[in-house]
Amino acid sequence: MRDKFVIGNWKMHTTTAVAGLLAKAIRDGLGSETRVRVAVCPPFPYLALVGEVLKGTRIALGAQNLYPEAEGAFTGEVSSTMLLDLGCRYVILGHSERRHKLGESDAFIDQKVRVALTAGLEVILCVGETLDQRNANQTEAVLDRQISLGLAGVTAENLSRLSLAYEPVWAIGNFAHHATPPQAEDAHRGIRRRFKQMFGESAAQALVISYGGSVEPDNAAALLSRPGVDGALIGGASLHADPFLAIVRAAI
Ligand code: 13P
Repeated sequence: MRDKFVIGNWKMHTTTAVAGLLAKAIRDGLGSETRVRVAVCPPFPYLALVGEVLKGTRIALGAQNLYPEAEGAFTGEVSSTMLLDLGCRYVILGHSERRHKLGESDAFIDQKVRVALTAGLEVILCVGETLDQRNANQTEAVLDRQISLGLAGVTAENLSRLSLAYEPVWAIGNFAHHATPPQAEDAHRGIRRRFKQMFGESAAQALVISYGGSVEPDNAAALLSRPGVDGALIGGASLHADPFLAIVRAAI
């Protein structure tokens, strides 16, 4: 049985004051709930602050990206070493906003995944098709490509530090059009099938696959109750403690 996993991706939102208050409200509101794995991923500038608020709690800290070198002349970039130094356990990689708005390729994402896992971070690799790709019946091919290329460097030793997030691009930030529970279940089944071809049956059964794309309190239980939908990667609804905690509770 896979534990449910709920992750807040704050994207490029919050300020020092808001990040601190939000982290405190999530910490205090979560109480002693232990059945769901919970992580929050603030913007880089607030990682230290949020890490301080969450210290000693079971809410893990994650980052939204990294650069695949330990250090060096890479102006503006942030390394795995720095993320670990700040107390990060997780890093989100391959988010569609980075693929589509910042032009990240599967090859570059593969480098990041390798470096992050080797450094000891836990990776949440995002995959997902655009609306055009879905309408052209390319969903499976796109997911297969993103998984095969993005996970090319994953070895048996670091498999346990990897989870995937299915984030259909058309469903992100679009509460009118989140994936239906059957659509999410179908895609997760395909992702697990592809993963099994690469890493075998027991690894595929252990793999946590979260769904992301307009998850909110009203749709969370229906999505999270589908077989193979093991968690939620939440954008907008993670920016306030109440909806985020409601989604955590829906995952139980
Ligand atoms: P929304 O929940 O705002 O649709 O964002 C989803 C997402 O991209 C999380 O990484």
